[in-house]
Amino acid sequence: MCQSTPRAELELPVSREAPALAREFLRGSTCAEHHSEVVDDAVLLVSELVTNSVLHGGPPVVVAVDCDEATLQVRVRDGSPDLPAPRDAAQSDENGRGLALVAEMSADWGVDTEKDGKHVWFVIN
Ligand SMILES: [Zn+2]
Repeated sequence: MCQSTPRAELELPVSREAPALAREFLRGSTCAEHHSEVVDDAVLLVSELVTNSVLHGGPPVVVAVDCDEATLQVRVRDGSPDLPAPRDAAQSDENGRGLALVAEMSADWGVDTEKDGKHVWFVIN
């Protein structure tokens, strides 16, 4: 657990503004002490995940960020338990393309499903 930056989360509107709000939130919440150099990557990935959640998931869409000193973890929750399906990046499906980017740029990532929703998370070292 990081002493500098406590866990932060924000519920986003299910609208076109959501990715921009998530980017702004992440820039404001990311631990300056431990992860300032990877903020740009995290901001890009959170934008992709929030876009997926707005288009395919539904409310509540919540973004959360944790710093534990060794890693930065970002989680995006939405109201659909359906797993996002990663697809070939050559296809023009926004959902698959976003997850392919997450898989490529993160140190680790995954999906935790619940009966009324899911969390897609990623870790950047
Ligand atoms: Zn930190």
